[in-house]
Amino acid sequence: MLINNDTIIKDDDERIREKSEDVSFPVSKEDKELLMEMMEYVDKSTNEEIAEKENLRAAVGISAIQLGIPKKMTAIIIKDDEGNKVYEYALVNPKIVSQSIEKAYLESGEGCLSVEDEHQGYVYRSARVKVKAYDLLKEDYIEIKAEDYLAIVLQHELDHFKGILFYDRIDSNNPFHKEDNAHPIE
Ligand SMILES: [Zn+2]
Repeated sequence: MLINNDTIIKDDDERIREKSEDVSFPVSKEDKELLMEMMEYVDKSTNEEIAEKENLRAAVGISAIQLGIPKKMTAIIIKDDEGNKVYEYALVNPKIVSQSIEKAYLESGEGCLSVEDEHQGYVYRSARVKVKAYDLLKEDYIEIKAEDYLAIVLQHELDHFKGILFYDRIDSNNPFHKEDNAHPIE
């Protein structure tokens, strides 16, 4: 399917609040194709030239529900400043199996392909999470021990499976309140 800023559903579409279902195994050809197209989107989205030409918004992750498909699949690619891939996951049925009490938050706040309005404030999440999933790139089950930025990205994407958006987690009365036992990430 064509994935660009016009086909990604936004938070004014009630489908973004839908709960996603487990993907059944073996992963169907259709699900594999979709997840690989999601990977391609994320990869291309950080290339300014392609992004501009193909109407892509830069992202490090996308979940299937953002295309209106309520299945537990998420694509994550995190690159360094030179554009080299540091983390790359094509996850099927990812699940958090443990998480730290210690929190972390992005100092500049979170963003989302499905959110166009600005929502300022801190989103506190676990600083470390352990995630189990099937990874389509490795064609195997994996366990990810993530911390800080990767941990936040994983939690953001897995929230989409529950229909939760990042700004639901911002304290509307005091968006920049400081929590104890939480550290900022630049
Ligand atoms: Zn999002």
